Amino acid sequence: MMGVMKEVCQLNQNFADQKKALHWCQNVQDTEEVDYEAEYKKKLADLKKGNNKYPVENDELFKGFMERVDDLCSNDFEVEESDMNFLDPITKQTIKQPVKSQICGHIFDRDSIDSMFRGRDTHIRCPYVGCPNKLRKKDIQEDKHLSQKFERFLLSSQAK
Ligand SMILES: [Zn+2]
Repeated sequence: MMGVMKEVCQLNQNFADQKKALHWCQNVQDTEEVDYEAEYKKKLADLKKGNNKYPVENDELFKGFMERVDDLCSNDFEVEESDMNFLDPITKQTIKQPVKSQICGHIFDRDSIDSMFRGRDTHIRCPYVGCPNKLRKKDIQEDKHLSQKFERFLLSSQAK
């Protein structure tokens, strides 16, 4: 759940920055001719740089947005995560160290996918049944979001 909340907070921050930049553009519109798109982008870049303290908590739009986020967090995300089983397609066992194909997004256990490449630097067919992609060893990488999901999966499976 921590990883999801971090992502949500990042989205909130982006949302707040964009909103603030728009407000800022509205305030400059009385001056002569303004390139609003350029101003908007400039302001947005400035906001992203600084650790700004825009009081988004008081913003009606933001409040509504947060309520929807709360709904999502308490319902849909939980269901999705508990449905993930992290089974390796080669060994059919639960994955120990998840890695991801950068080509097709399929996940494998590090050891079992490595064993398919052993001694060869060539393409192999993705071990997922029905996946037509050919993979090379460099296409199989650790993934930050995947690791976060995997940690949550471990925690929830321990709790059972
Ligand atoms: Zn695949």
